[in-house]
Amino acid sequence: MTTAQKLSFDVQLSDHARTVAEREQVLANPGFGQSFTDHMISVDYTEGEGWHDARLMPYGPLTLDPATSVFHYAQELFEGLKAYRQVNGSIATFRPYANAARFNASALRMAMPELPEDAFVESLELLVQADKDWVPTTEGHSLYLRPFMIATQPALGVNYPSRDYKYMVIASPAASYFSGGVKPVSVWLSTEYTRAAPGGTGFAKCGGNYAAAFVAQRQAVAQGCDQVVWLDAVEHRFVEEMGGMNLFFVFGDRLVTPALTGTLLPGITRDSIIAMAGELGLRVEEGRISIEEWQAGCESGELTEVFACGTAAVVTPVGSVKGADRAWTVGDGGSGPVTLKIRDELVGIQYGSRPDAHDWVHKIC
Ligand SMILES: *Cc1c(COP(=O)(O)O)cnc(C)c1O
Repeated sequence: MTTAQKLSFDVQLSDHARTVAEREQVLANPGFGQSFTDHMISVDYTEGEGWHDARLMPYGPLTLDPATSVFHYAQELFEGLKAYRQVNGSIATFRPYANAARFNASALRMAMPELPEDAFVESLELLVQADKDWVPTTEGHSLYLRPFMIATQPALGVNYPSRDYKYMVIASPAASYFSGGVKPVSVWLSTEYTRAAPGGTGFAKCGGNYAAAFVAQRQAVAQGCDQVVWLDAVEHRFVEEMGGMNLFFVFGDRLVTPALTGTLLPGITRDSIIAMAGELGLRVEEGRISIEEWQAGCESGELTEVFACGTAAVVTPVGSVKGADRAWTVGDGGSGPVTLKIRDELVGIQYGSRPDAHDWVHKIC
């Protein structure tokens, strides 16, 4: 029922938007997720009534009752995608309907209401149009869009999901993850902690998954590594993914990526790479790879490259691997040619310098 609901957004433009000079100062060095634009989207949901009060409004803080259920039981989910300044000057996002569908898949798992896909995409369009001057023109930079939903009923009962929700979108200019070139990351194999178990929430982009991951990420850093690689929760042997990126293993012209078994996040970057691999002369298998196969493949030279992929960092090489009782290097520890070819192709499509054969680019303005 809710998926057929048509929303109309009220537009309240900010009367205290940042000046051109203030905006230019942020855009000169945006970092990631630190500064936000002048507007945001807010849509409320009430059981029985559905979605209502859809609006674009000035960016600002929320006032919430301390009993609001999201603070206690973490009924929350989010999405992440980017608006890219195209080489011809227009602005576009990449596969926003795929994010809308994943948002609703997460919502079903978290017993939260689905948002009509058209309303999700329209909310992004309205925010990007209002804040279009915040979409960086610097090569490789973008405007990161963060849709999310929280449970807003002020009630501590733990037996039922919230009756009320709020959907929002905020936007943050983002620098290239690759400033200073494509830097390979070092990864830590987490055998003490797991991210997701069968039947759990691994496939949902819900905040709790990330809250539970920080301790392992901190352990990775303490071990001198950049990122965690999560292993399966049953045998602690099979590779699942990284903290916010999916993994691909390159055996010459054959790519292997862990299959979507419900415990890993179905990345849209992952899906895009699978879809375009054939055009780049590569074969893809969705399967299973153990840490023993990973190490043996690198030692025999059969496994030539490993890369991680996701919206934030696009495609990042994995240079070295460390675990409690083992450590090894992938290839020569640098960025391999297959990784760079895939990255260039994807970035080219996203910024409009390569043909968009799959109709993935969604023009906004
Ligand atoms: C968001 C995310 C990804 C990557 O998804 P994309 O749609 O490609 O950005 C991968 N793993 C996790 C855990 C994530 O949260």
